[in-house]
Order: sequence, then structure tokens, then C-alpha cells
Amino acid sequence: MNIQDFKKEVNRLKKEKDAFIIAHYYQRYEIQEVADFIGDSLELSRMAERIEQSTIVFCGVYFMAEIAKILAPHKKVLIPYRNAGCLLADMAEVRELRELKERMPQAKVVAYVNTYADIKAEADIICTSANAGEIIKKMDSDEIIFVPDKNLGSYHSQFVDKKILLWNGYCPVHERITLKAIERAKRGNEDALVIVHPECPPEVTRSADFVGSTSQLVRFVKESPAKKFVVGTEEGTLYKMREAAPDKEFILPDPIPRCDQMKMITPERLIKALKEEIYEVSVDEETAERARLAIERMLE
Ligand code: SF4
Repeated sequence: MNIQDFKKEVNRLKKEKDAFIIAHYYQRYEIQEVADFIGDSLELSRMAERIEQSTIVFCGVYFMAEIAKILAPHKKVLIPYRNAGCLLADMAEVRELRELKERMPQAKVVAYVNTYADIKAEADIICTSANAGEIIKKMDSDEIIFVPDKNLGSYHSQFVDKKILLWNGYCPVHERITLKAIERAKRGNEDALVIVHPECPPEVTRSADFVGSTSQLVRFVKESPAKKFVVGTEEGTLYKMREAAPDKEFILPDPIPRCDQMKMITPERLIKALKEEIYEVSVDEETAERARLAIERMLE
């Protein structure tokens, strides 16, 4: 199916099924083309509550679809591929987190949004890469358990005077963006600014010109007077960057950072999901209620 036919068919099915399509920035370009809304985890969480349609089709990884279901429990939430997981979210384990909380009863738990609902339910508050620093700073505790991304936690811990216990998790896609790969990308592009996501390793964030969440990176390329950027994050982000700053040049490090989990959502699977109303996301009520409280604390 060519892209025009794909768009036509998605639009027809959206009307027929009263559906709204949300896509994360790391989705395939074809999926971003047909999405009603594209954003990062914070923007997506804010969006879920405001949708009027009865069905939300979430083109992202499973924990994101879970957030939509938690925040909009009366809607039907679909994910076109049930096994689109997040390797970072998989690194947090609820029993170990409970044990840690028992060992550190005075500590508050800040959970990155890239976690499943059971981990969110154990957290005092949720954060995203866009607001993690602000949230850690504002917590009324000097001891924090930060779960699960050690790179994001370590990046923000340098700006606060708090004891932060970092969970030993990381995003394999951003972890593979090495300083050497960034330096190779800079070769011959010395006038380019290096902009990276805080899930990258510490030596990469330390040497970058700008560190920010996906939405902050997109905003930065739009507003910056620079014309060229070495981009240290998932390659799907370039779709929005090119739209926001069409006259600018973007260079990805080699190997290209690509999240295979995000790319499990294909045009064929999106069409099938709309037609057959699969796969429906569910979260048990008690877990959803506790996770909702932690998410709402963040949104406040
Ligand atoms: S890029 Fe990393 S953190 Fe994001 S969904 Fe993929 S594995 Fe998870």
C-alpha cells in the first residue's frame, strides 16, 4: 500500500471507529504522518485525558499505552502490537523496588515514566525526561530512590544536593550513543552543535552543547541560530525536527540510534488494529488507581 492509500484508509477507519491516533516521536515516519498528535511521554500523558473520541490508538511502546488507559479509564485504548515493550522499563522489578523501599523507609521514590504500571503504583511521583530535574528538586525529601534510568538520574543528580540512589537500568538505544560515535559525527561538521537526550551515558551528556528531552530537543533546533546539529537520540525524532526547522541539517551518530521496539508498529499493524480493534490495553483497577495518583502528582 503506498503512503497516499495508507493515509486514506487510516482516515476512513478513524471516522468509522471514532478513534484518535497518538504517536511517540520515535515512531516510523509513515505512522507520524497519520497521527493526530505526536509527542514525548509528558505531552502524551497530558493529551490522553483531553481526547473526545471513544477509542485511543496508541502508537508507541506498551507502558505508554498503559498511561493512556490509566488517565482515560473509560476509553478503549488499543496498541497495534502488544509486544512493543521498552527494554528500559523491563529493567525495573517490583519486588526488588519494594525491598529497597523497606530498607530506605525515609526515601521517596521518583519513577521515570518509562516504567510499567506496577512500578508506578509503588512510586511517590512520576517524572519524564522533560521534568525530572524539577521534580527531584521539589521533592520534600533529601533521599531519593530514582528508578529505572541511571543515566537520567545521574544527569540530574549533579544539580541537587540530595542523596540519590540510582537503579541500575538504562535504555540500550541511548546507551549505545558513545562519545566516540559523537566525535566521528562531528568530524567534518565542526560547526554543528551537539544535542543529546539525558538517557545517554554521562560522558556524552557532559560534553554536549545542549541536553534535553525529545520535545526540548525539537524546540531547541527550531529556536537556535545554529544551522547544523549532531543529534544524540532516537532517529525518529528527525521527522519533527525537519518539520520544525526545514532549512537546518541534522546528523545522526553511527551506528544510528534506532529503537526496534518502537518500530514494531507498522502501517499494516495500525490498519489491522483499527479494523479489528486490537490489542486492547487493560490495567487492574487497584494498580491503576495508585499509579494515577503518582502521575497526577507529576502533572500538578
Ligand atoms: S528508546 Fe529506549 S527508553 Fe525509549 S522505548 Fe526504546 S528502549 Fe525504551
